[in-house]
Amino acid sequence: MGIAEALRAVQAQINNAAIRSGRDPAGVKLVAVSKTVDIKKVIEAMQAGAVIFGENRVQEAGKKITELRAQNTDIKTQWHLIGNLQKNKVRPAVELFDLIHSVDSSVLAEEINKHAGNLGKQQRVLVQVKLSDEATKHGIAEDSLMSLLSVISNMDHLRLEGLMTIPPYFEDPEMARPYFRKLRQLADKAVERGFTMHELSMGMSNDFEVAIEEGATLVRVGTAIFGERFK
Ligand SMILES: *Cc1c(COP(=O)(O)O)cnc(C)c1O
Repeated sequence: MGIAEALRAVQAQINNAAIRSGRDPAGVKLVAVSKTVDIKKVIEAMQAGAVIFGENRVQEAGKKITELRAQNTDIKTQWHLIGNLQKNKVRPAVELFDLIHSVDSSVLAEEINKHAGNLGKQQRVLVQVKLSDEATKHGIAEDSLMSLLSVISNMDHLRLEGLMTIPPYFEDPEMARPYFRKLRQLADKAVERGFTMHELSMGMSNDFEVAIEEGATLVRVGTAIFGERFK
């Protein structure tokens, strides 16, 4: 299956999942995860209608975005950072990305705020929440979430838009449902406390339909569009 065909299939699954859970399909946006994927394939996906691309490494994204801009191919493309962000990469990240999904500490938020201010930008951010106890996963613990949200809300150059999570990998996507539901409940609680929560970034190739049933507004899909990654 080519990229255009795979993209159409994923988009149809998104629409169906939205409709069967009583949601407007327009309320679910696809983030095409292009990490490790070469430029030619990214362009193919753009031409097939993908608008938002997700990358997990600042340096790799920088190379791609620079090259694509030089070719004038990315006019309406948006770039999202979905991977962990190190402090020393914050400036280029703020320069490159429309939305950062992975803010998980006040130190990182502070750094992003500083560079966004220097660059005259309002940086849109999501807070990544860690809902499992896997040692390898980033994200803020549930207990500390509300205080991080208030810290971020008080920063001049950050625009808080919602939450993101990565559940453990399960063969059976139903097993991820409680994690998605939990993120949704945390967002509802945050809204009650007056925080802005437009976006819930959750769901990947294996489980995005379940995530949509639980309220995802941004699904991050790589393999189902571009095929297996070998790196
Ligand atoms: C790689 C990645 C994805 C996409 O995973 P697939 O299983 O290939 O769809 C989504 N979110 C994050 C944070 C990732 O790093």
